[in-house]
Amino acid sequence: MSHTALMPIPGQIDPVPVARDVTPRPDGRIDLTGLARTRIRDLFEEAGMEPKQARLRSKQIYHWMYHRGAREFDQMTDMAKTLRPWLEERFVVGRPDVVEAQLSEDGTRKWLLSTPDGHEFEMVFIPDDDRGTLCVSSQVGCTLNCTFCHTGTMRLVRNLTPGEIVGQVMLARDALSEWPEGTAKLAQEPEGSDDGSYNPAGRRLTNIVMMGMGEPLYNFDNVRDALQLVMDGDGLALSKRRITLSTSGVVPMMARCGDEIGVNLAVSLHAVTKDVRDEIVPINRKYGIEELLAACAAYPSASNARRITFEYVMLKDKNDSDDDARELIRLIREYDLPAKVNLIPFNPWPGAPYECSTPERIKRFSAIVFDAGISAPIRTPRGRDIDAACGQLKTAAEKKSRAQRDREAAEVG
Ligand code: SAH
Ligand code: SF4
Repeated sequence: MSHTALMPIPGQIDPVPVARDVTPRPDGRIDLTGLARTRIRDLFEEAGMEPKQARLRSKQIYHWMYHRGAREFDQMTDMAKTLRPWLEERFVVGRPDVVEAQLSEDGTRKWLLSTPDGHEFEMVFIPDDDRGTLCVSSQVGCTLNCTFCHTGTMRLVRNLTPGEIVGQVMLARDALSEWPEGTAKLAQEPEGSDDGSYNPAGRRLTNIVMMGMGEPLYNFDNVRDALQLVMDGDGLALSKRRITLSTSGVVPMMARCGDEIGVNLAVSLHAVTKDVRDEIVPINRKYGIEELLAACAAYPSASNARRITFEYVMLKDKNDSDDDARELIRLIREYDLPAKVNLIPFNPWPGAPYECSTPERIKRFSAIVFDAGISAPIRTPRGRDIDAACGQLKTAAEKKSRAQRDREAAEVG
């Protein structure tokens, strides 16, 4: 079995071949979090359980883990008592370790998390009046180096396993005490009902965005496997309509994203000319704007009911002119896209080479796009005081090592 800790991410802009494996643990036990029912069944059989038993037990455990949030085999009351020590010896139901939890003055929460092999990543929860959105990471760091994004300056990169991805959502449900109550029910939801039995009414965690650290389409298999557990009616049972995946434009993976995951798509466009996009979103040098928009037009669930969101970070004197706004409208019309534009005021970070556009400029840009009949709301920055806003995620360990480097440089100087 290969070890994900050693999973390298080659190159700058090629989709990453992903070792699909359980989350590595120093004590040698196998972490079941992130594994599908059939994989759990196979592991039970490999450990010597009878095939019939393995099928039944894997089904029960799957339900307890993903639907009810159980972390201890002792909580699984329909599991034979004699079986529990057997399971405990070999398996765990893990979560990412919490290194630090922070609360912003606006109610946004940020968790600094750690993998068992010591890699740190972040997760953010953004409560609003009518919804609560969890911003989930897909990688430790990011290989893509967009010039306005703090995450892109991280040196350390590794793909998160399915368990580390779905584990973030499970951890958030633990923290918010939001696992469904009631008796264990093993029945599958009826065909075609992807709302499952998780009723978002009255709950705080209602939506998920794959907009934390990393490029989710460079960790496609693990992100897909994790989101399948989130969407499964007998799993976390969150509707795919409430999940959005954001990509910087990994064109060759977008069709598969639609076919195999089927969630809402957000695309980090950020510029409408080749020159500017090449500079600020370097993946544009490989997959240009035309290719990207054609892939958006072909996105399987692109329809008026489920529009594609274009994210557009507002950078002063870089991409924020009236001409840019008009070109944006032209492009959206040319590709006949059911689109919405999210204008994101640039969130600063130490040493960032940009400034945010003025509020007047952002309003004017928004008005031009709105006047063309395309929705273009300005996103309110959230959690800036705890560095939790878009593009500010970079783990403390990395910041510390930068400080350390600066000190060392000063000493040498
Ligand atoms: N890698 C994916 C998803 C994570 S980034 C992607 O790029 O789409 C989530 C969003 O935050 C992206 O639209 C990203 O471009 C934006 N972002 C990055 N840095 C930012 C910053 N400093 N200020 C505002 N938005 C930023
Ligand atoms: Fe990576 Fe997205 Fe940041 Fe670009 S904006 S560096 S793709 S996380």
